[in-house]
Amino acid sequence: MGRAFNFSAGPAVMPEAVLRQAAAEMMDWQGSGMSVMEMSHRGKEFIGIYEQAQADLRELLAVPAHFQILFMQGGGLAENAIVPLNLSQGGAMDFVLTGSWSQKSLKEAGRYGTARVAASAQADGFTSLPDPATWQIGGDSRYVHICSNETIHGVEFHDLPDLTALGCAAPLVVDFSSHVASRPVDWSRVGLAFGGAQKNLGPAGLTLVIVREDLIGHALPHCPSAFDYKRVADNQSMYNTPPTYSIYIAGLVFQWLKANGGITAMQARNIAKAQLLYDFLDNSSFYVNKVAKNCRSRMNVPFFLRDESRNDAFLAGAKAANLLQLKGHKSVGGMRASIYNAMPLEGVQALVAYMREFEQTQA
Ligand SMILES: *Cc1c(COP(=O)(O)O)cnc(C)c1O
Repeated sequence: MGRAFNFSAGPAVMPEAVLRQAAAEMMDWQGSGMSVMEMSHRGKEFIGIYEQAQADLRELLAVPAHFQILFMQGGGLAENAIVPLNLSQGGAMDFVLTGSWSQKSLKEAGRYGTARVAASAQADGFTSLPDPATWQIGGDSRYVHICSNETIHGVEFHDLPDLTALGCAAPLVVDFSSHVASRPVDWSRVGLAFGGAQKNLGPAGLTLVIVREDLIGHALPHCPSAFDYKRVADNQSMYNTPPTYSIYIAGLVFQWLKANGGITAMQARNIAKAQLLYDFLDNSSFYVNKVAKNCRSRMNVPFFLRDESRNDAFLAGAKAANLLQLKGHKSVGGMRASIYNAMPLEGVQALVAYMREFEQTQA
């Protein structure tokens, strides 16, 4: 059957070129006599891999010099605790609720301090974004948290909010797990951004944290040492053993991104892919996407068959056509197509062709 088009939300599709290179280097990395996963994280070979990955990511995302790039572990969910442990200083934090992931962040932060809701789109089923002008941010806020791409509800901030323009001096914390590297980042609006690697960067195990230097060094006394940004930064992300193999694979993804035109080229490809799928959905009376047009995710596209009794047949036919992992998240139902950087346009074309054909067979 060969490789399928994999629409999984994460862990997710990888660039084929990266998988091939990793396979070729599996037994003996560049004459070192060993696999990357067998190397000391303190040896010169791995340090070279680490430094290259750091430099490539900094270049790709245009990360300014006054931000640190940390390679951590624990995933996005652990950061829901690690961020308040490092940034709250025992004060209050404000959250904008736009779907399941920001809800989770609010709940977890509440275990470490006062976590407030600045705005919520829950009343409309998380199909829109609350206008930043309406956000209720406390004057004492230590930070404002958003999830810039809600992986489950398929809602994306196409521009990051400008807190300064809202008269708010608190730093913006962004969970960008599921669209990091899909588009450029305006770092002038960001205090800290975090994301697990397994959506758009590489294998699970690596968690990316990009943090402005003045926000480092304020951890609460009970913050675990391995999660204190200062300790992680002072030790070049090697206070404890980092997820070495995941860093190596993510590094190959960064090289693949650079070889394919970088982040602006990716953004253009992602816009074209998303537009193809949304245009098809909007012109269909058989399928529907319920998210407001100004905030539809370019990475995660939830959609429904208007007649849900056909869901199982739809998924079975998709599988037979080598289109995998299209079932929606259980909390939302329906279908979801995740179309990350590594999903080629041909994959979306194949999906649309299948959806059209399925609709015809059901007439
Ligand atoms: C997947 C995801 C997470 C959780 O990541 P884990 O690595 O499972 O902890 C958090 N936030 C967003 C937006 C996600 O998509």
